[in-house]
Order: sequence, then C-alpha cells, then structure tokens
Amino acid sequence: MEIEVLEKNDTSLRLLIKGTNAAFLNSLRRTIIAEVPCMAIDEVVIIENSSILHDEILAHRLGLIPLKTDLDNYNLPEECPCQSEFGCNLCRVTLTLQAEAAEAPRTVYSGDLKSENPEIVPVSPNIPIVKLATGQRVMIEAYAKLGRGEKHAKWQPVSACTYKYMPKIEILEICDACGECVKICPKKVLVKTKGEIEVRDLMACTLCEDCADACPKEPPAIKIGWEEGNFIFQMETNGVLPVERIMLEALKILDSRFAEFLKELKGAKIEEA
Ligand code: SF4
Ligand code: SF4
Ligand SMILES: [Zn+2]
Repeated sequence: MEIEVLEKNDTSLRLLIKGTNAAFLNSLRRTIIAEVPCMAIDEVVIIENSSILHDEILAHRLGLIPLKTDLDNYNLPEECPCQSEFGCNLCRVTLTLQAEAAEAPRTVYSGDLKSENPEIVPVSPNIPIVKLATGQRVMIEAYAKLGRGEKHAKWQPVSACTYKYMPKIEILEICDACGECVKICPKKVLVKTKGEIEVRDLMACTLCEDCADACPKEPPAIKIGWEEGNFIFQMETNGVLPVERIMLEALKILDSRFAEFLKELKGAKIEEA
C-alpha cells in the first residue's frame, strides 16, 4: 500500500491510498465513525430552567456540543476501575452553566459552560444553546463522559469520513471541443483552453458521468472511469481530536480486532466429521 498526503490541516485530512480495496477502507471509515471515543455531555441535572425550551431539549442540545477530548487521561466509563454509575475523576468531567437575562434578552452560548477541567471545553464558544427573555434563568450541572459513535452520534469524532475511487478521465480524438461537458460538470473538473478540453481538477470528479451524457458525440468523446485499487480517503474532524489522533486510534482498534481474530483462529479446534 502506498499513501500520499494530498491535504492536511487542523480539521481535515485527504489521502491518496494506492494498492488497497474498498472493503479495507470501509472498515477504517466505520471504525473512525463508530468506535474512536470522544467526550460528550451524557447526563444533565437541571436545577433551574425558566427558558422557553423544555428540559429534555436543553439536555439534547448540550449533548451535541463537541468537546475537546483527552484520551490519555480519561477512561471509558465501562473500562474505568471505579465501575460506578456516577463516575469518578478518571471517567467524568463536570461542567456547569449559570445564566440569566437580568435586564434584556440574551443568548446563552457554549462558551458560557464552565468546566472543572480547562482542557475539556467546547470546541467552539459560539454555539447557541438557548435564548432567554428578560427575567429568565438557567442553572445546570452537566457530566461529560467518553463514549463511542456506535451508541450515539454525539460521540462521533468526525463530521465527515468518506472514500472514493481515484477517477480516470479520457478525452478521445473525436472531441471537437464544443464545451458541453465543461458547462455541465458540477465540480468544474474540466476546462476549455486553446480549443482543447483539459482536466483541471481530477480529484474533484465524483464519477457522476454527466459530462458523458451531455456529449453530443455517439459514443461520447469523453470516457469516465476509475483506477482499480486506488482511492481518495477524506475525513474532517469536528474539532474534538486532531485528525492524526483519530486515525491512530482507529488503526489501534482495528489492529487489536485482527489480533483477537488471529488468536481465536489459532485456538480453534477442527472437528472431525
Ligand atoms: S464525471 Fe461528473 S464530476 Fe466528473 S468530470 Fe464528468 S461531470 Fe464532472
Ligand atoms: S461534450 Fe464531448 S465533444 Fe464536446 S467538448 Fe466535451 S467531450 Fe468534446
Ligand atoms: Zn471512573
């Protein structure tokens, strides 16, 4: 397998992976989405809520706020030595929210949450939680825990994780550069320069084949295909963990699964018929 980093920044990662197959990349994608743990608010005690939102809606909105995650210092509740329903300092972080619209209406934002651990705070302080009319108040204690996306989407560390085949575009000699394919392409992959059609941004092609359908030639003068075994893998974090850490954790999980599978396989006895 050959891997080339096409793009990497604080929030997203795009890789060209050569010499693999869709089954492996789908396992990796599903592991990232459903099994890499991250922090989210899981229990809420509403001490006071005179806002227009019901307690349940407030709790739901709090749960969906992405929180910066520390995987090195916190345990998943099911793996924590405390084995307590209430949790302990190693598996739970307390956040409090106290806000009042004393003289004028105001919006309560994620930045108003106060965390007992300054490292476990909302990824963005600008997420609106509730609007308060004059005189309304909310007083809340919330408990964040590590969890996995397979249980609830609030524990998904990514906002997107996809892969696609590496596209292959061929312009045949019968092309008369009429430009119909350039006009119809939704991703602006093609460009007409000096009376010729050129591929401007191959990676952006979604293999939709609209260009071939729009071509007046019969058969079409443009052929869309893909490179067998070569893929573009793309993921975008919602900010709870860096992209490399998410990838590393997913690979560790897959690795331990395969090790377990191998162990079971070695220990399996073959039944004689
Ligand atoms: S297949 Fe779709 S995205 Fe790709 S070049 Fe043709 S029209 Fe554009
Ligand atoms: S639509 Fe067909 S003939 Fe026209 S420029 Fe595109 S490939 Fe060439
Ligand atoms: Zn604990």
